[in-house]
Amino acid sequence: MIHKRKLGTENRGIGMTSQGTRDRLVRRLRQEGIKDERVLKAITQVPRHEFVDEALSSRAYEDTALPIGQSQTISQPWIVARMTEALLHGGNPQKVLEVGTGSGYQAAILAHLVPSVFTVERIDELLKLARRRFHGMRLNNIYMRYADGHLGWPSQAPFDGIMVTAAAQSIPEELLQQLGVGGVLVIPIEKHGYQRLMAVRRSENGFEESDLGGVIFVPMLSGLA
Ligand code: SAH
Repeated sequence: MIHKRKLGTENRGIGMTSQGTRDRLVRRLRQEGIKDERVLKAITQVPRHEFVDEALSSRAYEDTALPIGQSQTISQPWIVARMTEALLHGGNPQKVLEVGTGSGYQAAILAHLVPSVFTVERIDELLKLARRRFHGMRLNNIYMRYADGHLGWPSQAPFDGIMVTAAAQSIPEELLQQLGVGGVLVIPIEKHGYQRLMAVRRSENGFEESDLGGVIFVPMLSGLA
């Protein structure tokens, strides 16, 4: 009797994290305006449940942010998709920087789309967990750094795209400098208590900003933790 019940629970767990569940999430993202098929394909390929605590894995394919410890969250899949679309901007970046590794999910999505992904995190504990996940999934094209992302990763610049996954008070000058011509910086900016997702494109002539809409991110903090 007990044995049977155990089996039932296990089966449900598998069902909740199955390929079918992931495909349903992708259908929903498509309905909600995500168009770039490359991005949707990456979302079907990356097991989001591996990036959250086991206790939350049955909720991993809901379109919602989830806690990852240290008062941080893994972003909502729609936001991950939207930011990734904006970063690719119809182009084909070869080398990108992410600020705010967190669980590592966004970096894993990028690793399916871009040859080299550089990611910076200020909380050592999260970086260690993410590193273990990348190794487990054999994502060998992700390079990690324990640092304050306001400074970017100068020795690897320029980048074809930069994505910040925490809300900044203003656009860090260092990140603009490390963006190559033709590249896009995607960054949530907090103004008067509200956050807007901004895309800044660098051209030969300078920087052009566009507003992609309202978002909610944890704050971008200074220093290391
Ligand atoms: N991209 C992550 C989202 C994590 S939440 C994911 O897919 O799970 C935002 C992350 O940004 C947190 O882990 C937080 O510690 C980190 N962060 C905040 N300020 C930072 C900074 N100045 N430099 C690097 N990382 C920062």
